Amino acid sequence: MAKDFYELLGVHKNASESELKKAFRKLAVQYHPDKNPGNKEAEEKFKEMSHAYEVLSDPEKRSYYDQYGVAPGSQGAGPGGFGAGAGMGDIFGDIFGEFFGGGRGRSRATAGEDVRYNLTISFADAAVGTSTKIRIPRWERCPDCDGTGARSKDSVSTCTQCRGTGQIRIQQGFFTMTRTCSRCGGEGRVITDPCKTCRGRKRVERERTLQVKIPAGVETGNTIRLSGEGELGEYGGPPGDLYIYLTVEEHPLFGRDGQNVILDVPLSFVQATLGTEIEVPTLGGAEKLKVPAGTQPGHVFRLRGKGFPHLRGSGAGDQLCRVTIEVPTKLSSKQKDLLKEFDCLSKEECTPITKGFFDKVKELFGEGPKK
Ligand SMILES: [Zn+2]
Ligand SMILES: [Zn+2]
Repeated sequence: MAKDFYELLGVHKNASESELKKAFRKLAVQYHPDKNPGNKEAEEKFKEMSHAYEVLSDPEKRSYYDQYGVAPGSQGAGPGGFGAGAGMGDIFGDIFGEFFGGGRGRSRATAGEDVRYNLTISFADAAVGTSTKIRIPRWERCPDCDGTGARSKDSVSTCTQCRGTGQIRIQQGFFTMTRTCSRCGGEGRVITDPCKTCRGRKRVERERTLQVKIPAGVETGNTIRLSGEGELGEYGGPPGDLYIYLTVEEHPLFGRDGQNVILDVPLSFVQATLGTEIEVPTLGGAEKLKVPAGTQPGHVFRLRGKGFPHLRGSGAGDQLCRVTIEVPTKLSSKQKDLLKEFDCLSKEECTPITKGFFDKVKELFGEGPKK
């Protein structure tokens, strides 16, 4: 049973945002892992409270929680992993920014964004695996100004509007309000001569070439994660991950069902009747297939181990060869005569399926239609 978020933070149900923040801050200071090294209970409590605060401090999530009693996106289970929530970085920056003085650099750290890359590979490459180069653009800290955005040390000056504080005080009657300085955007400093390389943006877009190994047996919808290859983090935060979403192209002959390869094999009715040996294509080349006499349409021959390799574990799927019978068209008059002669000679026991069908029809209606 998940603990009530309001109880965890020790506030009542209609606590205001600032009451929530105050309560959480008080508890967080008490239970913060830095203050309780090795104390598992405190750590657990800290995680629970952080999760509760993450949900309740977001008006949308809070109203969802009030309505359903669980956090949106959870299965009613407790905290969803410490630091995994998207808003966690913000919360800690917000709460601890001023609190653990000195720790400002750490608490502002935000992880880099994950990056998605779509990659299409051929059916054949999916079967045997491949290695391919991809080019990924990524924002990186400008190397020429070291991420300051300024051309040199001398091209940064203290903002004259806020005198370097980043805040502007406004007197309104009895009240003094502060707002972020519009000239420097709260940084307290302005760049007089921006860096030529990044034009003051502090970062540059760089294209990197990565070699990606694609294992044999992948299918459309599979993803490959390259840890740390996403966007860079800020203020020392870790980089995001790169997710490669795979699409496997269709094949002109082969179909696919999981790790099995599906192949429709057309036979003439004579081949199916008399039996034959044919060659069928597989992912690994041509294979002989013995078709016994009397093979029916829809019959499936299984070539074991001739499908896609299993991604986990060993072995591979099968190739399923599904028989179709082609009814001949555009016959010469001689062929037609031969077929008519053949039909006259046919006996009921040659076609037990047809005979069985009409026997059942007869049973149903007393007397079946004439064959
Ligand atoms: Zn300013
Ligand atoms: Zn630069």
